Amino acid sequence: METGSEFLNRNDYKTLFKNSCDLALEIDLMNGYYQLIVNNRPTVFKLPEIGHYAEFYSELLNDMYPKQQSRYLEFLQFHHLVSNYDLVNEKVIPLYFIKNGLHLQTEIIIYFAKDSVRKYAIFTCRNTINKDDERPGTAVYDVALRNTYDELYELNLTKKTYSIISHVDDKYVMPDLNGTLDSNSLALFRRTMHPQDVGKYSLSYEKLEKIYTDSREKYYGEYRRLCKDGTYRWIGVNVVKPEEIEGEEDKKLLCYVSDITERKNIEFEKIEENAEKVAKESTLQRREILEETEFLLFEWILKNGKPETYISAQISDTFAGNYDERDILQIWLKDEVVHPEDREEYRKFIAASLSPKRETIIRLRKKDNTYIYCKILMSVQFDENNDVVRATGIITNIDELIHIQESLKNKVERDELTKLWKAAAYYRKSQDMIENNEMEKYAIIRMDIDRFKFFNDIYGYKEGDRLLCMIAEILLSRKKSSDICGRINADIFCITFAYRELAQIHEFIRGISEDLQTRLKGMKKVVATFGICFVDDRKIPVHILTDRAALALSTIKGNMVKNYAFYDEKLRSKQIKEKKLEEHMEAALANGEFEIMFQPKCQIDNTQVIGAEALIRWNNSVDHTVVRPDVFIPLMEKNRFIIELDKYVWEGVCKTIRYWLDNDIPVVKVSMNVSRIHAHNRDFKDTIIQLLRDYQIPSHLIELEITEGTLVEDVDGLFDIMKELQSQGISLAMDDFGSGYSSLNMLHHIPVNTIKLDKNFFNSVVITPKGKRLIKNTIKLVKDLDVNILAEGVETKEQADFLLECGCNEAQGFYYAKALSKEKFTMLLKKTVK
Ligand code: C2E
Ligand code: CA
Ligand code: CA
Repeated sequence: METGSEFLNRNDYKTLFKNSCDLALEIDLMNGYYQLIVNNRPTVFKLPEIGHYAEFYSELLNDMYPKQQSRYLEFLQFHHLVSNYDLVNEKVIPLYFIKNGLHLQTEIIIYFAKDSVRKYAIFTCRNTINKDDERPGTAVYDVALRNTYDELYELNLTKKTYSIISHVDDKYVMPDLNGTLDSNSLALFRRTMHPQDVGKYSLSYEKLEKIYTDSREKYYGEYRRLCKDGTYRWIGVNVVKPEEIEGEEDKKLLCYVSDITERKNIEFEKIEENAEKVAKESTLQRREILEETEFLLFEWILKNGKPETYISAQISDTFAGNYDERDILQIWLKDEVVHPEDREEYRKFIAASLSPKRETIIRLRKKDNTYIYCKILMSVQFDENNDVVRATGIITNIDELIHIQESLKNKVERDELTKLWKAAAYYRKSQDMIENNEMEKYAIIRMDIDRFKFFNDIYGYKEGDRLLCMIAEILLSRKKSSDICGRINADIFCITFAYRELAQIHEFIRGISEDLQTRLKGMKKVVATFGICFVDDRKIPVHILTDRAALALSTIKGNMVKNYAFYDEKLRSKQIKEKKLEEHMEAALANGEFEIMFQPKCQIDNTQVIGAEALIRWNNSVDHTVVRPDVFIPLMEKNRFIIELDKYVWEGVCKTIRYWLDNDIPVVKVSMNVSRIHAHNRDFKDTIIQLLRDYQIPSHLIELEITEGTLVEDVDGLFDIMKELQSQGISLAMDDFGSGYSSLNMLHHIPVNTIKLDKNFFNSVVITPKGKRLIKNTIKLVKDLDVNILAEGVETKEQADFLLECGCNEAQGFYYAKALSKEKFTMLLKKTVK
């Protein structure tokens, strides 16, 4: 599995992996951040360009088939990558996982690389099966059943189709991978079933519908199935309703097939063996033998036409019914031992002529009036004259087998680490509780550990896991017994909490925070934060309520004072607004609703216009409002639409400059904003250079503004790109300087021509003497670096004068002008610029 080799050359990655991999990440082994190199399947791998490997890894864990976890995943842990680096071990790891509902069978290879300063691991992932074989849906079940069952079918009741989700290779003669369902749904096996078993226990649509609507309803049948080697094997066929899948509208059932040949063989052997013994032994000994077996036996021995009946004592001990002189098969019918719904099937079974071997599966009522699934197998022996000499019946309790999915379900529903409910189960159980207890008031409390990733990085995953288990313990000890508690993922826990008064919620939250502090004594502070959403409308799906709680939580991220927040009307209307904007955004761009405005940049001493900043506005056609960029830009950075929008602005600016040039209008340099998303995407340089070329714009007429926050993120290669842009004559500005990220000594390394003093920084401190001193010194330092400085947000003459006094002669702000439309700004240029 190991392919020792050289380090890779970093410049070769892209070409190397572009065609051979679905996904390639370069992981910086110094700081744990990864950068996306190749993502050929963006719909499957929804990854940011840059992110923390730990985060990516934990998501991978979630998506993995559980059995694999211990085997391979250890190697993929960050610290393993670090320690394996020196060994230059490239590992080939076969992995199965589920991404966005698709089953992926992949091969992961880790490569290693370095440059003069840093070491890297490159995580690559390629598909090893046909894309067409990746099947959507029913993911969770497949995971649990994969190792227990030979085949898994998905039956689609809406479309009346089936498809095979997984199957063992080279064992059975297979039906088509996809097909339609007959009225007897088992017909899909017909071609491969033993001729004698065809038509046994038919599985009608009605039955399937019943299984779908009633979770207690089940189906189990046993058949002989043709194998590729020409033999027959016994299979057990189980039909169950899967966990509901979000967004799935079709009615679907799962049908899993297991190999029960061995058990079957034992059964038949037992019959034969017992029959033989029974024939020889006395009644007493016979009973002893039978009591050793797990099967219950009844039989008629016909000697000279006079039947002798035997019924195992356990039968009358276990099952309801009055075991008198009557035929046991009749007792079960007459005394209503057979489940009402199985009676018809059972009658057919009795009525069938005495065939050598026949069986049925029915529910029989026990003495405590509960039903269990039993299989009844009849074996009849004939003498030379073809007269019946013996009829033997064997009852097998297969209830456990039928209910196996219950235990599997539990496995699927419980989080392995904390034993709390997993997301889907948590949502469903909470929903049930909320809907069925109309008198109770509920709140969804979502708990998140502040900087859990950080904790994981510092203390390692083992400690991280211990912390999660500790939290689970605390939650379980603090919650009321009826409250439902789940781990949604990583460090996110949710509690569906019944309450009478608000104080109870506060008390609960406080208790958890305190317990955590007490138990973590001596360890770095771990702070729990809580988002709370009240259940007002019981019909709203719980996962939406947990999202709302998350939204509330996000409002206190980084807040040192408050560790909880409620989802309220304000948040709600904000959320609705944002959703509307997001839905409309693409159409808006096509409609020309985005308008580029120009805010003048002026020289302070003579108020001469020396440039402009292009600022975008959204003239929303839906409600005829002007939406400010502060509202929509963060949204678009989240959904990456900003990439389109920035390009639109850049092109608009180029068009405008072209227009000025063509019409002999005095031209000034225009600054354009480059979103942090672009900075992570190296292509922006080419886009801009191409635009300048297309519109024939001299590069000195363009400036690019990149925020301080982006520049200190240490984006690999960004400075190189910036230097290249500068070498093409394009100037660069650091936007929002002083908004809190950078230190002055970093400025030495950052390739910018201009620094824009942040408006907030400037506004809040200018009034105090200390603030004034700070600004003065900052300006002096920047100027010493031979970097141009411009103050943003200048609103008063006082501020302007003060700046001038400090040696800053460029400003932008309402004191001079707000952002102007293209027409107004053009007029201004005509009037004022010589
Ligand atoms: P920014 O790049 O710092 O832009 C300056 C912001 O300060 C503008 O807000 C401007 O209208 C405002 N401003 C100018 N003078 C004054 C003043 O005297 N007082 C005060 N209080 N504010 C002043 P705007 O246009 O709302 O834009 C907000 C932010 O949205 C911008 O901050 C920028 O980060 C972003 N943005 C705007 N247009 C674009 C764009 O085309 N692309 C990208 N990526 N971001 C943009
Ligand atoms: Ca700006
Ligand atoms: Ca700014």
